[in-house]
Amino acid sequence: MADLQRRTFLKIAAGGAAAAAGGAALALRHPSPDAPRHIAKIPTFCELCFWKCGVVATVEDGVVTRLEGHPAHPLALGRLCPRGNGGTGLLYDPDRLKKPLIRTGARGQERFREATWNEALDYVAAKMREIRAKHGPEAMALFTHGHGGSFFSQLLKAYGSPNIAAPSYAQCRGPREVGFQLTFGTGIGSPENTDIANTRFLVLIGSHLGENMHNTQVQEFAEAIRRGAKIVVVDPRFSVAASKAHWYLPIRPGTDIALLMAWAHVLVYENLYNRDFIEKHAAGFAEFRDAIRDMTPDWAARITDIDAETIRTVAREMAASQPSVIVHPGRHATWYGDDTQRSRAIAILNALLGSWGAKGGFFLPSGVEVPPYPAPRPPQPARGAVDGAGTRYPLADETLASGLCDATLAGAPYRARGWIVYGTNLLQSLPQPQKTLEAIQALDLLVVVDVLPVEIAGYADVVLPECTYLERYDDLHAGAFRTPFLALRQPVVPPMYDSKPGWWIARELARRLDLEAYFPWQHIEQYLDQRLRGLNLTLADMKKRGVVVYPAEDSALPPDHRFDTPSGKVELYSKLLADMGVDPVPKYYPKPEPPEGHFRLLFGRSPLHTFGRTTNNRILGSVVRENEVWIHHQAAAALGIRPNERIRLVNQDGVRSAPVRARVTNRIRPDCVYMVHGFGHTARGLRFTAGRGAATTSLVTRVDVDPLMGGTGMFNNFVRIEKEA
Ligand code: SF4
Repeated sequence: MADLQRRTFLKIAAGGAAAAAGGAALALRHPSPDAPRHIAKIPTFCELCFWKCGVVATVEDGVVTRLEGHPAHPLALGRLCPRGNGGTGLLYDPDRLKKPLIRTGARGQERFREATWNEALDYVAAKMREIRAKHGPEAMALFTHGHGGSFFSQLLKAYGSPNIAAPSYAQCRGPREVGFQLTFGTGIGSPENTDIANTRFLVLIGSHLGENMHNTQVQEFAEAIRRGAKIVVVDPRFSVAASKAHWYLPIRPGTDIALLMAWAHVLVYENLYNRDFIEKHAAGFAEFRDAIRDMTPDWAARITDIDAETIRTVAREMAASQPSVIVHPGRHATWYGDDTQRSRAIAILNALLGSWGAKGGFFLPSGVEVPPYPAPRPPQPARGAVDGAGTRYPLADETLASGLCDATLAGAPYRARGWIVYGTNLLQSLPQPQKTLEAIQALDLLVVVDVLPVEIAGYADVVLPECTYLERYDDLHAGAFRTPFLALRQPVVPPMYDSKPGWWIARELARRLDLEAYFPWQHIEQYLDQRLRGLNLTLADMKKRGVVVYPAEDSALPPDHRFDTPSGKVELYSKLLADMGVDPVPKYYPKPEPPEGHFRLLFGRSPLHTFGRTTNNRILGSVVRENEVWIHHQAAAALGIRPNERIRLVNQDGVRSAPVRARVTNRIRPDCVYMVHGFGHTARGLRFTAGRGAATTSLVTRVDVDPLMGGTGMFNNFVRIEKEA
């Protein structure tokens, strides 16, 4: 019966199952409408992006028919975002990986044979043993994205490797974390500790709330607008957020530090800063004031294309709303290579406004500690990680995915010989894909664990099909937010096809590598139950509730609060940076400008998609199926490009994009073009999305690496436009 239902469903899905805009559940044809139905509501949490909103799944006779926001989950607040609603499009994607695969053709040819799990896992374990014996355990690396990767991290640590990286650090949020750590002694973390719902003044700098669809933030953004908060949007593109703004500042790309420091100048030299906060909590004010003496609004106006009076007015309005102000730290912060300093400028501005720990500013998150499952400590790796974090990039405090790739290619400080890639399509998530491909060709082993046959799977020696988040347990999510909470991911339906959960795959590999002692449980239910009992909970109870929310701690900043910086204070002037020979106060340096006939390439997100991870989702893809290139109407007219005409972008190194539609608009500066990231797939197995739109990654052949933490600045790439014949 279950098979019949599945086949019936897949026929509907393959034929283009109905989906409503906004991501409503698939319209399902029940195989026997008159039969009595078994309907269950099962709580879990979402993995269509990393935000991890609580979900309640409706399961009718074994088919997931609806996903809704968990009413008690602090990140869902009873709702899912449009993507989250469309999670069944992943579960029932007919293109899913269905069996373990072993490569039979050359890397990249996408030629495989099906294998049993035993055969595939034995193959991987044998190769890992060989690498360990010949090159040491450090020569295996893990790239991971998403909550499910935790058991693979545990596996690599037990194996003895320090080379465990998430592209979300060096390719996204890393500079922001380091910029805030240098200033407040702590990073921003995820979810961000921004009290948007209660703010009176929100400044978004290249941060596209609404397009960047992180459920809680977007709900709070709507609430802030409803309550009359003032919004300032600084962006070369008139984003959705800009359409809600009181001030839209179409800044010249690459000049944000000048604007931020000019705002700081107004606050300091007009005595508008939060004197109480600065006197109680900050260090280095006098040095800071001296350092920004010449960073006036008139100086910044010449750099940013924003007139001096506007700079002054916005700073004064910001000051009038303090401390209930958020200069938002953003998330994707890897733009120009000086991103740690830009993030630090944002942090400093928030300090001057006294918004840290203030209502309507940055709340101090509180979390819950879950006792670990007793297991031996992993061995100390004999060699350090190869990526350059903490050495070449002295302030990086997480492993750099791009650094692992570089070291694989260079063979220095030593060569990574094997990669396990969990849930991240490195050919889209790392810049300079040509380099990634060269590194892959140098590997002795590439294992890809994924739900879909994404591009990197086409290069793997072994592809291991993971089941989706709706079919598996993962580790507990102990969330730190306004209130501490603990959430359970559990299967709402059994795994389809011959797919397996990540915890099982990692444990089976551990078993084959004689590392079972590090996974001293037979089934994840045993693991979860024991950990929950440490908090007087049980798995049986959590399976019904999905989430437990604990009382909020007092989040007010005590007057004698000691920040985790060298001085114990908020550091406006960083002696640490000065001692490193780096600007102790952020400074603006000019960025490369587009050559004649070229535009700066900017990219961002669609609210319906999580990069390339969801573009094959037929529910979400029925609403946004391909990307387009935003071009200013004057630039388009000069090139003779009409709306919706097919064009190609050619970057400064001659790399040509796939054909893509032109969106002619006045909502972007004439010196830039903009695209949504995540389209332009080429993997043959992604039958819905392959060949639709153009990839941004292939055009990012130049990166400007942040010298402080190794983030890969990607917005110094320039393209010209060719009309498609
Ligand atoms: S923000 Fe949307 S996609 Fe991300 S976890 Fe929440 S509901 Fe899912």
